Amino acid sequence: MPAIESPDDHPRLPQPSKDVPAFSPSTISVVFVLGGPGAGKGTQCANLVRDYGFKHLSAGDLLRAEQARPSSEFGELIKGYIKDGKIVPMEVTVALLENAMRDEIEKGNTKFLIDGFPRKMDQALKFESHVCPSMFTFFFDCPEEVMLQRLLNRGKTSGRADDNLESIKKRFRTFVETSLPVVDYFEKEGKVVKIDATKSPDEVYRAVKTGLKDRFQQRIGQ
Ligand code: UDP
Ligand code: MG
Repeated sequence: MPAIESPDDHPRLPQPSKDVPAFSPSTISVVFVLGGPGAGKGTQCANLVRDYGFKHLSAGDLLRAEQARPSSEFGELIKGYIKDGKIVPMEVTVALLENAMRDEIEKGNTKFLIDGFPRKMDQALKFESHVCPSMFTFFFDCPEEVMLQRLLNRGKTSGRADDNLESIKKRFRTFVETSLPVVDYFEKEGKVVKIDATKSPDEVYRAVKTGLKDRFQQRIGQ
């Protein structure tokens, strides 16, 4: 009596259709950068680009560029979502990120900071299954009153359609309701580096570098 049946004795079942990531985490490093609006994500990303040669891709910047592209079919849609502080349907944002990554990979870039993304669970799951699993997430933790001051200051010069009190309030709400669950999800996977973002940019950056070294030492070789 055969103890173990060989699987070849059975007719093969059709494989479930599987979403295979476009890029492998063994060759490409993806670090997500999350935090409320005004938490300082962009500032700290610029530091990391300067010192460690990351490629910085901001989901918000890619959406604004797509919105401004004259022949874009998504321009009006993106405009409305951004003004309301809502999350643009993930198909648009994931496709923009995947295209931008592909362009950079063709140029030889392998280390990515994906800033302001994923801000909703569906985006997180789609990106990791379809584009590339992340290595870890920086989470910039900052109270709303601090972020509000920073955003109102930035609003004086940023020219952004959403740096006004009404839009800022909506963005805070979206962050708490929709984006924090993504941080919790990655936290449960042990993939979050939490940074106190209330201090000065230099102090925050010191914590960022320590967090990065812990997680990234082998790959960066610094
Ligand atoms: N946004 C989006 N999906 C994303 C990232 C951004 O829909 O994955 C939209 C959303 O409306 C958000 C806006 O773009 O409020 C601005 O995002 P950005 O990251 O520039 O804002 P920040 O967090 O840097 O203040
Ligand atoms: Mg930003």
